[in-house]
This record gives sequence, structure tokens and C-alpha cells, in this order.
Amino acid sequence: MMFENYALGKWIKGDGDGTPLFNAINGDEIGTASSKGLDFSKMMKYGRETGGHLLRKMTFQERGLMLKKLALHLHSIKNKFYQTSSFTGATKIDSWIDIEGGIGNIFANASLRKEFPDLPYYIDGKFAKLSQNNTFIGHHIMVPKEGICIHINAFNFPIWGMLEKISVNLMAGVPAIVKPATLTCYLTELMVREIIASNILPEGSLQLICGSANGIIDHATSEDIITFTGSASTGIKLKANSNLIENSVPFNMEADSLNCSILAKDASPGTTNFDIFIKEVQKEMTVKAGQKCTAIRRVIVPQEYINDVVSALGKRLDKTIIGDPKVEGVKMGPLAGLSQKKEVIEKIQQLEKTQDIVYGNINNFNVIGADKNKGAFLAPILFLNENPLKNTDCHEIESFGPVSTIMPYSDIDQAIKIARLGKGSLVCSIVTNDMKIAEKFVLGAASMHGRILILNESCAKESTGHGSPMPLLKHGGPGRAGGGEEMGGKRGILHYLQRTAIQGHPTTITSITKQYQYGAKQDTSGIHTFKKHFEEIQVGDTVITDKHLVTLNDIENFADLSGDRFYAHMDENSLEDTIFTERVAHGYFILSKAAGLFVDPKKGPVLLNYGIDECRFIKPVYPGMVIGVRFTVKEKISQEKKEDENYTKGIVKFLVDVYDDENETVMLATILTMIKKKNKL
Ligand code: NAP
Repeated sequence: MMFENYALGKWIKGDGDGTPLFNAINGDEIGTASSKGLDFSKMMKYGRETGGHLLRKMTFQERGLMLKKLALHLHSIKNKFYQTSSFTGATKIDSWIDIEGGIGNIFANASLRKEFPDLPYYIDGKFAKLSQNNTFIGHHIMVPKEGICIHINAFNFPIWGMLEKISVNLMAGVPAIVKPATLTCYLTELMVREIIASNILPEGSLQLICGSANGIIDHATSEDIITFTGSASTGIKLKANSNLIENSVPFNMEADSLNCSILAKDASPGTTNFDIFIKEVQKEMTVKAGQKCTAIRRVIVPQEYINDVVSALGKRLDKTIIGDPKVEGVKMGPLAGLSQKKEVIEKIQQLEKTQDIVYGNINNFNVIGADKNKGAFLAPILFLNENPLKNTDCHEIESFGPVSTIMPYSDIDQAIKIARLGKGSLVCSIVTNDMKIAEKFVLGAASMHGRILILNESCAKESTGHGSPMPLLKHGGPGRAGGGEEMGGKRGILHYLQRTAIQGHPTTITSITKQYQYGAKQDTSGIHTFKKHFEEIQVGDTVITDKHLVTLNDIENFADLSGDRFYAHMDENSLEDTIFTERVAHGYFILSKAAGLFVDPKKGPVLLNYGIDECRFIKPVYPGMVIGVRFTVKEKISQEKKEDENYTKGIVKFLVDVYDDENETVMLATILTMIKKKNKL
């Protein structure tokens, strides 16, 4: 059987016999893969012009709902993937991380739609005041790049590796070509088949290359984005591609990482935290047979606890039953293939030159339910490096399997120094209850790590663990780890958008951003906005309210009602050395009085007040001053209909501009109201 490529809207077999692919458990050939004959340039053009075109027309809300639908669909058929996943050597838990972790990533990205406008593009940050009279301002918009993403992935998470990337670029409105590592591409192929068959994604938004993609990046243009996950050597080679350099094509690299975990001194043997540390290290060594980019490779422990750690870890590792993941009780499956096993053993042999194995043996171990010599099995190997500042191989050589090195430190400064010898890692963790140590370590190690987990008994139960990149947090690390960033919630999506500064009159910038910019034209001609349904409301619609004379009585009454008797409101003799010249009205009184002025009280489409985004008291208001409100529609955010509601609605943000008798603004706030739509569907 030959696994196929999905290109130009159809499934295509590659030319020739293809590369044979093997079951990691028994070495049986399960099929071949070939990308020969594919025209990469045509695929990229097709993706940009077909998928890109359709995705760019959709708003963030539409893209988010599309992803939610996809995630729900894949979740409903998730069991289809488990059997094929086991061919990669994955246990049930390993497969769960790959399959359901990947689908979870789509859900998480779909939910991010709530942080984006109902537009195909994004408005970044706040406006910049560029002129004295506010007739000329600046802002930033971010539009989807009109190129295509090429995702070049590693072999270890054939599903998660694809889904964590495409959910981000699809949210951004950019199509993708996925190129999984050939070794395990059969599992990615199965997932892509289901995605394509679901018809949920627009045509051309996802293509797949099973087999080599050598040469593809030669066709990249300036609007394309390349992401790479794999070994540093391949990554560096690709990054140096002259076409990428000449066209400034972004290249996001996630490469080898010598992640570490630190046991702090307070987590001494016999404490709960010591046990938490041992459990975490053992888990990270054996989950996915240590083939995780985030796995703990360096175990940094206080000198005086070395023997306890070696012994406790050894005891826990003894419980790691190795074998065919289908057999009950098996805790660790084989590596993904014999080629990987060979590579890992070569690295173990290199490490052995400067440090000793204190647990495990590359030849002598038991395997249940499978032939040890046919499958890619390997036992966990634990090294001890007594002098990690001098023997530095453990900070340089990544053995991508169940292999870690224990090393001692004298004090926390030295622990930081040793952690930093990894020259840049995806993640490190420290187990401690001591907040001072936690702070010192984090501040000392942060510049060399993409993520830091501070683990202790207060969070261990709910902790997602050292090795799990979370969709809402940045994944990626500096230096050796490639210097890239993936996921990270909203930040990940912005990676696929082009940020452009725009300058002009506030009215022009309002019309482009669909957000009212201070100083833009206001439309005061219509009925009160509270009488309008969501669809009838336009950005810029303004209510100019009645005026109110602020009195000392207002201040007294508000103080009585709220209980806020702060001296500046109550005591005129206390104002020396303050900015106030008289008893000043409470800021919250001004805000409340503003509501009294702008609210239209009769029952209408407005359902409720949702909250306040920003509020600034700009100028003191004293008794005798007269205030009024310019109440302007700033932004509209449509909401999805909930099943249990018989109406539809949206959020309208209003700019509340309270001004005084000199026409100067005394308070600015953005309030949110929930307003019904006319249309009930
Ligand atoms: P690899 O050998 O570097 O391959 C990575 C990917 O690059 C594969 O899809 C490979 O395709 C492709 N590739 C190689 N040469 C290419 C070329 N000239 N043009 C286009 N694509 C090319 O890495 P691996 O063995 O699959 O993965 C293991 C490594 O990945 C480990 O070092 C691990 O630390 C790292 N990793 C890092 C992360 C992270 O997030 N930082 C995650 C997982 C793994 P073929 O398979 O067809 O050769």
C-alpha cells in the first residue's frame, strides 16, 4: 500500500516504489510513501490562490467556528486513529497526547475567536496621537499574509505536530501545506483524509506531502511562512536557504532541546516534593519513550541528595514495563523506528565517553508481547555526571529517547549556571516550596528558556506537567531550541499576520478599523442608541446628553451612599500638598452620573451593562462645574446564539466622554452593553 499525498484538491500517489515504512513494534512493512512527481510550486500557488483566497474572506469569528466544528467532528471519530497510532510505538497515553492533545489544540484556537474582531483582519493595540489638534493619528492593523505556510514536522507527534500548527494558521486566514516526517507520515495521512472528507475546511486550505519535500522552500515567496520542527542540523541547513534569505521569508524553528529539571534543596528526600520530582522525571523519560522535544534530559539535584535521587529514580524506572503497547500493563513502547533506535544508541555511546550509566542497559532488558530484536525497543538509560561544569557533553548531545543525565549542584546560583549550559531550551522545571528560590531561579534562567514550570505540592495535582506545551502559552525556546515561537494563544495567530501602521484623520482610521477613534466624526442625527437593535447601530453613532451641575450635595450624598469618605472629597482643610484646590467630586460619582445622563430608561433592545474596559479620570471636577456626556458607539462584536436563548445579541462598546463647561474631557471610559438583534436566528 502506498500512502498518498493530498495536492491540488485530490489524493495523488507519488511516482516510483516509495520509501518503505515500518511498524515500530514488530518491524513489519506497513506501506510506502513517495512524493515523487509532485509539483511543489504548483501546490503552493494553488494553496495561496484557492485556500488563501477563501480563508481571507472569512472573519475571525467564522474561522473560529469552522475550527470548532472541525474539532467536534474529529473528537467524535477519535477512536479511528488509535490503532494506526500504535504502529508508531505509542502507548494509549502517548496516542492520547498526540490525537486528543492535537484536537484539544484546535478547540483552544477556535475559542480564541473571542479575542478577535468580527473582521478578516485584526486591529492591534491603541491609536497613537501624532498631532496637537488630533486631526492626524496612527494605528496598526494586521492582515492575513497572502502566502502559504509550509509546516515541516518531526516524526514524534504525527497528529499533534500538524494540528497545533494548522489550527493557528487557519485562524489567521492562511492556508498550509503539511509535510510530516516520512517515518510516521501514515498517521498524519489518516488524519488529513478525515479532515478533507469532512468538507469543513475551504478547498485548498490544507495539502499534504507524504515523503520527501526536498526543494520545496526554493519556491517560497515573500508572503509565505515556513515552520520547522526537527533536528537542529536539518533546521540550520533549511534556515540558510538563499531563497528564504533573499525574500525575507519568516522561518520559525523548533529544534533539539536539552531541557532540565531542578530539585531545590527544600525538596529533600522524604518530602512530598521530592516524590513529585522523581515522578515527573520518570514520566518525562518514559512517555513516548522519551521522544518528546520537551523531555527532561538533564536532572539537576543538590550534591547531598545525589544517591537518594539515583536510588529513587531507579526504583520508579523498574516499574516501566517495556513491550507491545497493546499488552495490558505495558508502560513504554518502542521508539518510532529502527533508524531512530540506532541514532539514540549512537548518542548514548557518545555520552558514555564522559559519564557513567547508573541505571539501565542498552542490550539487557525485558520486552513483553513483542520480539525485542524486531521492534525498536530500548530500556530507559540514566547517566550520572559528577562534574557537569567540566564534562559538558550532556549539555550538547541530545539523545532523542528515554535517556537522561543526573548531575549535582552546590547552590542555586550553580544550578542556574548548569541549567544555562543547555544554551537555550524549550522548557525547564524546578520543584520547590521556597518562593525565594523559585524567584531567583526563574529570573536567572528565564532568558535561556521558553517556558518554566515551578512545581510543588500546591499545584502538582492539577499541573499539566513539565513536558506539555499548552495551546494558550508560548511554545519554543531561544538558542539551541531554535529561537522560534509557536502557539501562545493570540500571539501564535499574530505570527501569520502582517502588521501595518496606518496614518490619517481619525474619521478615516475609524472607517478602516471599524473602531471609533477619538476625534472622528460623530453622527448625532439618529434616535437614541438604546432604542436601536444591534444591526441598526453604527460605529460613530453619538448621543449628546443633557448637562448636570455638580454640587457639594452630590459629593455628600455619594459619600453617604457609597461609604467612600476619602479626605479629598470630604475635608477642604486637608488639601495642602495635593493636586486638589477644593473638595473634589468622586470619580465614581462622575461615572455614575454619566450613566444617569446617557441611559435611556425605557425597556428596549439593551439587555444589560456588561462591564467597563477602561476608565480614566482626567480632570478634577469641583462643585459648581457643569458636566455633559458624548456617548459614542466605539465597536460592535456580534455574539453566537446560545441554544437556550430565544433571541440573538451582540456586545456594543461605547466611548463615554464626560466633558465640562470648558468643553474639556474630565473622564473617558469604554463601557460594554449587551444589545439584542432584530434577527432572532
Ligand atoms: P529531522 O530529521 O530534522 O526531520 C525533520 C523534518 O524535516 C522531517 O519532516 C524531514 O523530512 C524534514 N526534512 C529534512 N530535510 C529536508 C529538506 N531538505 N527539505 C524539507 N524538509 C526536510 O528531525 P526528526 O528526526 O524527524 O525529529 C527529531 C528531532 O526533532 C529531535 O532532535 C527533536 O528534539 C526535534 N523536535 C523538536 C520539537 C520542538 O518543538 N522543538 C518537537 C519535536 C521534535 P523526512 O522525514 O522526509 O526526512
